[in-house]
Amino acid sequence: MREIFLLKYGELALKGLNRNSFEDVLLRNIRHRLKHIGNFEYAKGQSTIYITPCADTDEACAALIDAAMPRLQKVFGVAALCRALVCEKDFTDIAARAIPYLQEVLPYAKTFKVEAKRADKAFPMKSPQICAELGGILLEAFPSLTVDVHDPEITVTVEIRDTNAYIHAAKLKGAGGLPVGTAGNGLLLLSGGIDSPVAAWMMAKRGMRITACHFESPPYTSERARMKVETLVEKLAPWCGSMAFFCVPFTEIQEVLRRECPEEYFTILMRRLMMEIAQRIAQQNDCEAIITGESLGQVASQTLQAIHCTDAVSKLPVLRPLIGMDKTEIIDIARHIDTFETSILPYEDCCTVFTPRHPKLRPRLEDVEAAQNAVDFSALIDEAVKHTTKKIFAMRVAENGEECTK
Ligand code: ATP
Ligand code: MG
Repeated sequence: MREIFLLKYGELALKGLNRNSFEDVLLRNIRHRLKHIGNFEYAKGQSTIYITPCADTDEACAALIDAAMPRLQKVFGVAALCRALVCEKDFTDIAARAIPYLQEVLPYAKTFKVEAKRADKAFPMKSPQICAELGGILLEAFPSLTVDVHDPEITVTVEIRDTNAYIHAAKLKGAGGLPVGTAGNGLLLLSGGIDSPVAAWMMAKRGMRITACHFESPPYTSERARMKVETLVEKLAPWCGSMAFFCVPFTEIQEVLRRECPEEYFTILMRRLMMEIAQRIAQQNDCEAIITGESLGQVASQTLQAIHCTDAVSKLPVLRPLIGMDKTEIIDIARHIDTFETSILPYEDCCTVFTPRHPKLRPRLEDVEAAQNAVDFSALIDEAVKHTTKKIFAMRVAENGEECTK
């Protein structure tokens, strides 16, 4: 029994985009995600990507399909995916193979229907005829079933395409969105918290390639805090693809801030300085936008006035995909992408070690600028950028066969 993957990308997603380059990027991302687990052949046509496992035995092919499935579910740009049985373009072959193939699902369902898609109009039977005849054969083979065309538990789909016919019975939702690499590069400000990894995931879902940038303040922040952030990058990589991770030494700037600036402006000035450094790193690394995990009103530095003061230092667009979301909605996504448990580990962040007792909730830009201009930060910013470290997190397979980024 030979199975392949059919991956569908939504037609809507193609609107306004160059279809060929969209498909090429998607295919490149898919190849990249599967290259470590074995050989596959790839073909595309009719808004579908066909992925065929290449191995000597049916068992080995099935194992490749099993291993590929969870990886493919994390590839943005795929609207739906299914394992499908390959048949000859011949109704007798389709009917003969359908019964053993569907043995794993149909005996456990009460209702079903057959759907036929006849892309090859030269096929001698029309779609309603395929549905009626195959439906009858399946009803005979699985007597506990009844047909429900409106709300069936299982939909058996037969697709008649250029070279073969395919049967599948379980279409899974893909990750949706646009392929990573079709919407520019963004520099993510990644803290160890819950929000910023979710922000990365949301922008990657819209096709952005993500580079991460973390500010640390040793010895106020520990090695373990940095490891936690690196674990978050590892967890994002299966969705975002290989990621560069920059770590900016921020201790000196924070110490000068604490010594020289009014406490009530401490957080907002810190965020402006982070933003200035992030701009420099973004420009050096071809990133056209800054991404943060801010959500309106969540904390003092995320009021509209505070956001205005932070944005004032940015020449690049600052994207805040979580701006209108509640914490519970953000947590749901963090759980879905498996970053939540890491994010809640109780290690300190540079923002939390120096928190003012009474931050200004509605800072005025003139006052914030005056407070910042009283100190010359330019040499400190240069130093921080100069001592920023870079690490690449690329998807690999370890000796034990597990996927990782080390
Ligand atoms: P999060 O859960 O993402 O930490 P938060 O609610 O704790 O968010 P803040 O600490 O005010 O909010 O941070 C807001 C945003 O600023 C974060 O989402 C992140 O984009 C950025 N940020 C905060 N701390 C850091 C840091 N140490 N390094 C890089 N970016 C940071
Ligand atoms: Mg935080």
